[in-house]
Amino acid sequence: MSVPKIVLFYAFAPLPDPEAVRLWQRALASSLGLGGRIIVAAHGINATVGGDVAAVKAYVKQTRQYPAFADADYKLSDGAGDDFPRLSVRVRPELVTFGAPDEVRVDEHGVVGGGRRVAPEDLAGLLAERPDAVMFDGRNTMEARIGRFRGAVVPRAETTRDLLAELDAGAFDHLKDRPVITYCTGGVRCEVLSALMRRRGFAEVYQLDGGIVRYGEAFGSDGLWDGSLYVFDRRMHVEFAPGAHSLGRCGACGEPTADYANCSDPACRRMFLRCPACTAAGRLRECGQCTAAPRAAAPLAPRPPTAEPLTAERSPS
Ligand SMILES: [Zn+2]
Ligand SMILES: [Zn+2]
Repeated sequence: MSVPKIVLFYAFAPLPDPEAVRLWQRALASSLGLGGRIIVAAHGINATVGGDVAAVKAYVKQTRQYPAFADADYKLSDGAGDDFPRLSVRVRPELVTFGAPDEVRVDEHGVVGGGRRVAPEDLAGLLAERPDAVMFDGRNTMEARIGRFRGAVVPRAETTRDLLAELDAGAFDHLKDRPVITYCTGGVRCEVLSALMRRRGFAEVYQLDGGIVRYGEAFGSDGLWDGSLYVFDRRMHVEFAPGAHSLGRCGACGEPTADYANCSDPACRRMFLRCPACTAAGRLRECGQCTAAPRAAAPLAPRPPTAEPLTAERSPS
């Protein structure tokens, strides 16, 4: 019987030949029957792959043999089975798409000029010591909607590019003199974000080491985290303790839910929150934006409430 596992890891290191790394990673992952998404750049690698536990472990073992990836933090979690319908291995200009590849410098120690690391165990202490410190969500707004750190600042961002645009528009200039602790799913976005914030004059920037994943493993629901963690595979969200309630609310009935549905308008496809009961009942097929402003071209005939597959393959970009 197969036991599904997912591994998440990244490494920032100068890669002289990203294309060679891509070919090696593709051959390795596909020979092991793994699915998922691997991004390779001149700055390193960012990967989420899943499959049978033995295959995932073999993948990690082999990947570790490449010196630049040896010390990466490989985060294993339980999969639901068939978590990734396919394998995508690509070379991109950036590991995380902030749209600022030329601003980021990487050396053998990682991103140059990034924020100071805070271990999950030290977070509460730092916040107690520095009452003016603020938690800063480095993810997209829809991710934060179902779970976030208590009291965190959540940017209005549909993509990581939007987040940088908000920063550049001065939306968070009032935080420049306060300690800012960035956090994201597994830490990769904050490696870059914390460096970009420091370059923009934020005086004291930290990054939560290992991200929400490592924090949740350490504290469950007994810490400063509330709700569900959005993940970029078929599971869609994970909880760190049984019975943890999501901060999301169903757009149809208002009940707590962490379940996203895609807007049925093919031109939109935005994700919106809809609970399993409302999905089963065929309620609310379009996102808030589309129901608020129905377009003249909207089809007149009601569409049957078919269960549509979610498009959740996007990596955090
Ligand atoms: Zn509902
Ligand atoms: Zn829509």
